[in-house]
Order: sequence, then C-alpha cells, then structure tokens
Amino acid sequence: MFKDAPLEPDESAILVEPFRQELNDLLQRNATQRVELLIVPDIAEWCAARYGTCDGNPCAMAIRDGESGAWGVLLRGHIGAATVRSCIDRVALFGGHEDVDVYERLSSPRAFLFHLVLHELAHLENNWRQDREDDCDAWAFERLAGPC
Ligand SMILES: [Zn+2]
Repeated sequence: MFKDAPLEPDESAILVEPFRQELNDLLQRNATQRVELLIVPDIAEWCAARYGTCDGNPCAMAIRDGESGAWGVLLRGHIGAATVRSCIDRVALFGGHEDVDVYERLSSPRAFLFHLVLHELAHLENNWRQDREDDCDAWAFERLAGPC
C-alpha cells in the first residue's frame, strides 16, 4: 500500500555518528575477523575517490581490500527519511524471514542501523553477492536478538 501524502520533513532521518561505538561493538561481536566501520558523507564519492564507481549510491556497503583482504563496512553518515523507508520496504518485500514483523522490528533508528550493518557483514562473512539480499537480511535478523 502506497501512501500518497507528501513525505514529512526529515523527521525520521538517522544520524549515524552517535551509534558509532555500538555499531562497532556489534560488528566485532558477530564477525570472524576485524571489520572496520567507516562513516562517510557519501558512499559513491568515497568509492569514486578510490576504486572508481559503485552501484548507485547506497546508504551502506560492504568492502573488501583486494590486497590485504581487510574487511570494512561503509555507512552514509546521514540517512534521510525516504531512504530509511525504502530500505525497510525492500526488506519487508522480499522473503527469507517470514516470521519477522519487519516494520515493527526495524522501527527504531538503532534497530534499523543494527540490521543494516549486520546485512553488510553477511555479505562479507558468507561471500554473498548482490543476488543474495534476502539471505543477508535473514542472517542479520538471526543475529538481531532482543529489542534494540
Ligand atoms: Zn546487500
């Protein structure tokens, strides 16, 4: 169901920086090797300055250093309300976690960000590419124990 009301001003936008420590702890707790959390203003720009391009301009992305094998999770520092909503819609739309009430589960900024970084970690831990989004979401929900 699509609402045709105009988007509210940025009331549910998320500022990532205040969650840095918690997100870092969450990553290290769930990862089998060190993961660097990088909070950047713009992921496409960050990529362009290093590797060339990335696919669109996502709010989060898993990266692997070709030479050292080091892992990283990139997060956009400010995630606008519309992006938050479309992310949650995408998670809800695809399967693999039918026992989860996605909207309820991801309703707080903390829960949203926890799920987001765990999703990116799923790509790294399992070597899953972009065609495994559902599996990444399910993997993240399994590790998102307890209320956030
Ligand atoms: Zn993904």
